[in-house]
Amino acid sequence: MDSSIISDDNFRKKFKVFLKKPMILIFVLLILTLESGFGPKWGFWAHKRINRLAVFRLPPEMQYFYKKHIDYLTENAVNPDRRRYAVVGEAERHFIDLDVYGDSALAILPKFWSAAVKKIGEDSLRKHGIVPWFIQSAAFQLTDAFKEKDTRRILRISADLGHYVADSNVPLHTTRNYNGQLTGQEGIHAFWESRLPELYVQDYDLWIGQAVYIDNLAETVWNSVNRAHLASDSVFLFEKHLSESFDPDKKFSYELRNNFLVRTYSQEFSEQYHNLLKGQVERQMKASVEMVGNLWFTCWINAGQPDLRKMKDFAPDEKEKKAEAAEQRSWLQRLLRIRSESDD
Ligand SMILES: [Zn+2]
Repeated sequence: MDSSIISDDNFRKKFKVFLKKPMILIFVLLILTLESGFGPKWGFWAHKRINRLAVFRLPPEMQYFYKKHIDYLTENAVNPDRRRYAVVGEAERHFIDLDVYGDSALAILPKFWSAAVKKIGEDSLRKHGIVPWFIQSAAFQLTDAFKEKDTRRILRISADLGHYVADSNVPLHTTRNYNGQLTGQEGIHAFWESRLPELYVQDYDLWIGQAVYIDNLAETVWNSVNRAHLASDSVFLFEKHLSESFDPDKKFSYELRNNFLVRTYSQEFSEQYHNLLKGQVERQMKASVEMVGNLWFTCWINAGQPDLRKMKDFAPDEKEKKAEAAEQRSWLQRLLRIRSESDD
């Protein structure tokens, strides 16, 4: 989302105070920019919705446990995006620039990580994104957590896995032109994955039947990434065509969000674009819900269907709270380039 911000009267007074404190101002603007949908990710809202809906696709033996922790799975669906700024190696888990590898990317890229590292080299792979391989790795970790009946790990990895799967179904997570920056369509990323679902999700039918077992995990993951990538052509093309025939003054509008006026794609432009896409956002969101549920279920089956009713209760312990606080600190340090105390 475009982060141009205009103030109302109340805000203007507060803004003057901020101007005297440049560090605070930078901090606030960064937070607003990051939390308002800038950057390559499904909107925070859609990620939460996808994880939540996937719970209802699970069989009764799993649903007892997952429903009990549905708020955790919903709230933590966005953790991987928060970590992007704090953890080295996190950013590349959210995308793959398939077009970097040419038209036959799928034929060139090995389906499994070790073979891909051998053929392409790890640095190069990480540079262009690793989401299809990372989903496979996270699925193995989840299976392992089920085998060990480790409540904390099961929940943490389930929430994370839901995030990466949802990202892999977003067409703009499969191209190096991820925000239209190479074609003069900057802002299209948040438009597609945040603005459109927020406007039209009430019309989406996201209910799917019970989760099914995935026989070939690697193939399923790669097929869905490929489907998302094939959809990216129309994402760019329709926006370009519509923009050419649209009154430029009506393409964007300002909307009030948390007391800020935010520049965004107008309702009129959004509606026409959404119609041109013919259900694409809904299809991809539904594919995410489908795959998240199927993956959780498959990992549980592969772990030998442990009895989840006997699992221990889960509450973040002190160690976990400290780790989370450290993560937040490191995120802020990176953003503001603040030295940590130990660097002195
Ligand atoms: Zn993400």
